[in-house]
Amino acid sequence: MGTTFEIAVFEGDGIGPEITGPTVDILRRMSDASDAYALTFTDAPAGAAHYAKTGESLPEASMDIARRSDAILLSAMGLPEVRYADGTEISPQIDLRKALTLFAGVRPVTVRAGQNTPLNMPEGKEIDFVLIRESTEGLFYTQGSGEVTENEARETLLITRDISEKLFKFTFELAQNRKNAGRGTGRVTCVDKANVFRAFAFFREMFDVEAKRHPELSADHAYVDATALWMVQKPWDFDVLVTENMFGDILSDLGAGLMGGLGLAPSADIGLENAVFQPCHGSAPDIAGQGLANPHAMILSAAMMLDWLGIKHDNPALLADGKRLREAVENVVADGRVLTRDLGGSAGTQDAAAAVLDSLFVA
Ligand code: ATP
Repeated sequence: MGTTFEIAVFEGDGIGPEITGPTVDILRRMSDASDAYALTFTDAPAGAAHYAKTGESLPEASMDIARRSDAILLSAMGLPEVRYADGTEISPQIDLRKALTLFAGVRPVTVRAGQNTPLNMPEGKEIDFVLIRESTEGLFYTQGSGEVTENEARETLLITRDISEKLFKFTFELAQNRKNAGRGTGRVTCVDKANVFRAFAFFREMFDVEAKRHPELSADHAYVDATALWMVQKPWDFDVLVTENMFGDILSDLGAGLMGGLGLAPSADIGLENAVFQPCHGSAPDIAGQGLANPHAMILSAAMMLDWLGIKHDNPALLADGKRLREAVENVVADGRVLTRDLGGSAGTQDAAAAVLDSLFVA
């Protein structure tokens, strides 16, 4: 049976439970078929609907499940009509990120042949790069507590040595793993604004120190404004990009746009011990309860989880299954016969997930 890994499952709000069910089913099937690893799943109640019922958005018991688990799978949380008493939104995923110091937001951007994209893709080109967004400091440091007087408003941008060193170490290791897996050229780009802000010159210096430790990878720098231009003009040239929190927030939505929308955009928030895997989209209350949600962003996030567990625990079977699951989704999308409405088709959530299972076990 191999090593057992416990997965904490936050099924969340809105479309969350609809996309979590089929994703966990697929993972169970893969785990059952493997003799090199086993996955167990523990539900962790949290979110806006849970808050409305119990007055708690992230109960301590769920936090404990998250802390002790080997990985955390999360769909989406928050509902427009459910708010804290002070009017702010309920977003336990941000609380988790802070509590578990998940400093690396990993956003893969892929556009395969046949996939819908607003770009005119040159013949034979595909997009396959990873954007890494620092997720605990930067311009989000004073989030919610900036100073506003009648004539002035101030927020603070914080870059620390501690987090930056961890971020860059993680980034170069990820680039090396991609290269080893035959997926990238081993190029790491630091995206900043070092020509204007001293804080970014400091960020860049620490990047350069880490780069020197990886002579087998290539490292360069780009200003964030130029990066936005190149993400539209020649995104196929990128391999791994690493940047500050706010820049990453903006560029990752541009990345989702290149992928033809949110329904195919997975993500991970990774720290030294814990990691959360969740789709980039929100709880989509406008389509919740109708069986219309695209499950692929969540299934692709689950594939990232298998990859991460495989690397962390040196388990080639998990790594192989992560790749197999990602390719199964890509095959279903490229095939085009079973697509949800957001991708131009008419299939429901269950049909789209069943097509992935077929691609894994029948085809
Ligand atoms: P948040 O602020 O919580 O990230 P949001 O306001 O950006 O959320 P989403 O919940 O991501 O909004 O929804 C944005 C739009 O995309 C909605 O019209 C929603 O129906 C659609 N959408 C989001 N996720 C999916 C999905 N998995 N399948 C189909 N449509 C989706």
